[in-house]
Amino acid sequence: MIDVTKTKFSILGSARSGIAAAYKIKEMGGSAFISDYKPESEITNAAKLKLDFECEFGRHTKRILDCNILIVSPGIPSNLPILEQAKQSGIEIIGEIEFAYRIKASDSKIIAITGSNGKSTTVSLIHHILRIAGYNSVLGGNIGVAATSFPLQNLGIDFIVLELSSFQLELIKHFRADVAAILNITPDHLNRYAGMNDYADAKFNIFLNQKADDLAILNADDEFTNNYEYKVNSQLKHFSLKQKTDIFLDANNIIIDDQKISIKNTTLKGPHNSANIMAAILALSPFQIPQETFEKALNTFQPLAHRLEFIAKINGVAYYNDSKATNTDSVKYALQSFEKPIRIIMGGAGKGEDYSVLNKYLKKHAKKIYLIGDTRFEMEKAFADIIPLELFENYQSMIEKIHSEAEAGESVVLCPACTSYDMFKNFEERGNYFKKLVMELSR
Ligand code: ADP
Repeated sequence: MIDVTKTKFSILGSARSGIAAAYKIKEMGGSAFISDYKPESEITNAAKLKLDFECEFGRHTKRILDCNILIVSPGIPSNLPILEQAKQSGIEIIGEIEFAYRIKASDSKIIAITGSNGKSTTVSLIHHILRIAGYNSVLGGNIGVAATSFPLQNLGIDFIVLELSSFQLELIKHFRADVAAILNITPDHLNRYAGMNDYADAKFNIFLNQKADDLAILNADDEFTNNYEYKVNSQLKHFSLKQKTDIFLDANNIIIDDQKISIKNTTLKGPHNSANIMAAILALSPFQIPQETFEKALNTFQPLAHRLEFIAKINGVAYYNDSKATNTDSVKYALQSFEKPIRIIMGGAGKGEDYSVLNKYLKKHAKKIYLIGDTRFEMEKAFADIIPLELFENYQSMIEKIHSEAEAGESVVLCPACTSYDMFKNFEERGNYFKKLVMELSR
């Protein structure tokens, strides 16, 4: 474990993970300097931060360079000039996940999951299964709770379950996961990466320091990750929806070794969720969890909000909120999760994806497309002539139109294929606003 009291830290970016790292350093007897380019007025709890730490807001000065380790927020562009200067000065640059790894007690095992889609669902399910199995598990990372917000330095945490984004994985160095998985790699964040290979390189960092008896998990159905298997040095296992791999689906059962786990009563619907369930069970395969525990956990797991979340049935029309569907692959799976063609709401802030990859799925599984947000014109061009579509300026008028058109027995799904930053703070705000408008229809 790193001796925090003998190391000088600077923290670049005062978002959740940076602040959690700063408080962990303080808790462990060290001190940290915090720098954020945002003005003080835009920093949450700036006054308290200034009391607890030396800080600078509204700029990044050379003061940052007076440290041994620079902890960088995952959102910060890697080409920032101060980062280049830090590198040249021989400062070690890491992320908060690497720091978490360096302070964690020796008895905790790490299960780390990345992928373009399904991360939050899979890590939440793993954490839920572990808790039902009686383990002390903590869940953090990209899921909205910083890893270092837990007492990782103390003995007694059995499992640290981490959702990791490609940005977080760019900033690891010695981080080693006992179990690591890439669920899938599909086009996403192409506005940050030079291309798919760069994006995949970041994701494969998850296996970087694994040893021969650690477990690595890949999706055998993902052609893209298949090409990178040579990068894995640990024990590699696969899950698949299509072939008999280390774990596979047989009707309503999941088969792994001599276990047959029923998914008949699970709350997680759709083929993508069957894949997530298999990844979760495979990730826990080294820990002898009984079949009954898996089934109990699957039957009691509460699906996460904003992921194909059922809102209400109004005049016989079922409304779903899939605001977290921020790329085309998640939309592809959402479309395949319904029995009858749906009315789909798409559009938001773009990430450089080619939307026409959805054309054949929309044609087969959608009845009409309602377009909103920054990408509406681009999408209009991509989806021209496949099925009826209509453009809207705001959610309110769109919902009213949908309400007047949808017939009993149909489903309406908010499934944007885009981020929410054109009109909302985040996907949660978008999903909650949509839910509110839907609930108002019932009045
Ligand atoms: P992430 O944390 O990777 O963004 P989530 O579990 O939050 O993943 O799901 C994000 C979106 O992707 C949701 O719309 C969800 O329905 C969809 N999704 C979930 N799992 C998968 C998967 N394995 N493949 C494709 N889409 C998925």
